[in-house]
Amino acid sequence: MDTILVTGGAGFVGSHVCKALSRSGKKFVVYDNLARGNRAAVQWCDLVVGDLSDRNLLQETIERHSVKSVIHFAALAYVRESILYPNMYWQNNVSGTKNLLDVMAETGVRHIVFSSSCASYGVPDDVPIHIDCDQNPITPYGRTKLACEWMIQDYARQNEWSYAILRYFNVTGNDPDLDIGEVHEPETHIVPIILLNSLNFHQEPVPIFGGTLPTADGTCVRDFIHVTDLASVHVKALEHIVATNVSAVFNVGLGKGTSVLELLKVCEEVTKKRIPYQMANPNPGDPPCLVADPGKVWTALNLNPRYTEIKTMVEHTWQWIQNKRPAWIKLKQQSIDSGSVC
Ligand code: UDP
Repeated sequence: MDTILVTGGAGFVGSHVCKALSRSGKKFVVYDNLARGNRAAVQWCDLVVGDLSDRNLLQETIERHSVKSVIHFAALAYVRESILYPNMYWQNNVSGTKNLLDVMAETGVRHIVFSSSCASYGVPDDVPIHIDCDQNPITPYGRTKLACEWMIQDYARQNEWSYAILRYFNVTGNDPDLDIGEVHEPETHIVPIILLNSLNFHQEPVPIFGGTLPTADGTCVRDFIHVTDLASVHVKALEHIVATNVSAVFNVGLGKGTSVLELLKVCEEVTKKRIPYQMANPNPGDPPCLVADPGKVWTALNLNPRYTEIKTMVEHTWQWIQNKRPAWIKLKQQSIDSGSVC
């Protein structure tokens, strides 16, 4: 059976995709530098610890495992961090992707699913955001994702590859079995930030960026999608481009907007605690409203999102945060202390 290379498969989205691949009987190998991912998240296949800058190791991995397609996650992915360290983002995301594409071309790998982002749109003219909406990213992160989209399209044209570009909206939720989950120290995404505040007895109020934005309650509006549903999209998208040899670009969201304040209220409902917050200045990298027009993604891939309620997404994250995350954080700390990357 042909093998799929999953770059960044030790991360939050990557590991959920690995679980989905395993459930659909696929053979795959994870390539991850473990800088932000977790060894414990790689449970269904071999792990090659390596960086995208290491072309020799990439090539050796592709050849040794008879890789025929790639799902590419390995990237830095924090919008606000990218504003502070743009060079790191261009180096890691764009140079890393170029290395991967060069090695794919050299080794004859012809299919790639790419993890792109709604951050590539910037502040859209119209919401919901149609797939053909202009892309004018306002952050280095968004710009690196757009640059990679273009690079993939150019390489695909030249080498007759097929690709799927998946522009994710806001990914949250968790594997309901709690086999894997989101672990960053510190957490950077809004749902775990709010829930950890609740778990840690409200050490400090949650900063909510905004308050004066042109949205109903002045805070950012986001289109949240459950990571398990996003994972299914990857599996189907890969099957689709391999079977048809036709490339596709999809917005992956549900088309439902939730403001950060509404989200906070849902978190209070789920945790059954009041969660203190403090309004903070709007962040220059955060567009006020990012809601997808998911268009054809669900129909083209013959899928139905399973978890469509924000409350269910928060419940799954809450289960993870209370029951499994603490042990994973300990593991990560132990490996950092012992000098081996996690
Ligand atoms: N956000 C916030 N406080 C925080 C972190 C995030 O108000 O401590 C807001 C952020 O401005 C954005 C939304 O929550 O509007 C989602 O942020 P997240 O980092 O989860 O995803 P992003 O949309 O930045 O990819």
